[in-house]
Amino acid sequence: MATQDVETTQIINEDVITRTLDEARAPDDARLERLLAKARSLAGLTVGQAAELMLVEEPERLEALFATAREIKQRIYGNRIVLFAPLYISNECVGNCLYCSFRRDNADLDRRTLDPTEIVRETRWLVEHGYKRLLLVFGDHPHNSVEHMIAAVEACYSVRVGEHEDGIRRVNVNAAPLSREGFEQLKPAGLGTFQAFQETYHRETYERMHPSGPKADYDWRLGVWDRCLPAGIDDVGLGVLYGLYDWRWDTLALLQHADHLMGRYRVGPHTISVPRLEPAFGSEFSTNSPWLVGDDDFKKIVAIIRMSVPYTGMILSTREQPAFRRELMELGFSQVSAGSKTSPGGYTEHNPDDAPQFEVGDHRDLDEVMLNLCEQGYLPSFCTACYRSGRTGEHFMELAKPGDIQTFCLPNALISFREYLLDYASPETVVEGERIIAQHLAQIDSDAIRRQTEEKLRRTEQGERDLYI
Ligand code: SAM
Repeated sequence: MATQDVETTQIINEDVITRTLDEARAPDDARLERLLAKARSLAGLTVGQAAELMLVEEPERLEALFATAREIKQRIYGNRIVLFAPLYISNECVGNCLYCSFRRDNADLDRRTLDPTEIVRETRWLVEHGYKRLLLVFGDHPHNSVEHMIAAVEACYSVRVGEHEDGIRRVNVNAAPLSREGFEQLKPAGLGTFQAFQETYHRETYERMHPSGPKADYDWRLGVWDRCLPAGIDDVGLGVLYGLYDWRWDTLALLQHADHLMGRYRVGPHTISVPRLEPAFGSEFSTNSPWLVGDDDFKKIVAIIRMSVPYTGMILSTREQPAFRRELMELGFSQVSAGSKTSPGGYTEHNPDDAPQFEVGDHRDLDEVMLNLCEQGYLPSFCTACYRSGRTGEHFMELAKPGDIQTFCLPNALISFREYLLDYASPETVVEGERIIAQHLAQIDSDAIRRQTEEKLRRTEQGERDLYI
């Protein structure tokens, strides 16, 4: 049993996944065209249809698949890319995940949990560099109780910087699954998305990867959203750690999990993360796994998820190298982290002895990432309007599914980006950024919304902050 009333097999059916993969055949050209047309209609794909697309190998047919993913990403998310930074609160962990440097048996790692004063210091640094959205990362440890999570979220929101009293506007959390009561306690702190990755849905592999500690309980982890959603936290973030098991199997399971949420709660995942296994200090497995995923397969994963759940935001981390991030972004990502440090205290303390959680592939700072995004035609965004206007969960899905969320997203992206240009950007980024703003303003179809946006951009220029539609 995953929770009191949801059987594990209602969430993931391992037999169905294995059978679907066994029975899937590569689509012929006509079938491929039908599948891609269905994806283009934004109706999503079934698990079986996704399995068929996984078998497409020929460069020309693969390019048709990628082109469809790019088109869907454009239609739903346009050129907007939302930016955030992870803030590591604690590397103390009773988990023993074989692939992670935070695992309990890694005796060479210095352990610590930031207190609220240290969290405020890190947050202040991030606000002073222009960030508006954070992802708090916690190891699984009694020091990271729900009370500490609440204190951490509140510490982040408490920071005010400069004449505009700037601060963090959305705090998401990545942590071990809580009980329903824990989620109920956490909700009033005002967090955005709660993320917990299943890592691998394949039970046997999962149990091998997580030999001890609370994370060893596959069913407890799998039932996380069946406790979280009923507790009223309705922006939930799913993920697979690619490299632990067969990517085909885990991707189908991830899609089954999304189907379960949509079927039972009418709320699909708000975001999906697709971290790839990176070398981690003190983890032999992280470099030796037989299931490491190559770049070509990774692109296929991103494209197939994009087509299968078009309404779900996808998150790309700094695990990937800049050049590859560029290629991946257009296939489906709507959020990226930038300038990340993956050790507690990493932004303000610069301690060379602190081991990061894993090796980061992109070392550019936020301003450089913003500049590069503009040069590639993207519109960087710090928008946090949906969450603060109550557009979460089912309400968000109603807007996101037909792509209507664009009505709000483009204006709000422009306004939040103008704030960044006025307050934090380098002169070079200002020039490129203003070009991008002008170009995208002209793309707002509705005269009324364009005028409203222009007015809010003007008021931002005159010193008002945090305006949105
Ligand atoms: N304690 C939290 C939990 O129980 O989920 C998670 C914190 S962990 C620091 C955050 C995520 O990092 C994990 O869910 C995992 O997917 C990812 N991760 C761990 N080791 C990694 C590695 N070697 N390479 C890439 N990502 C890794």
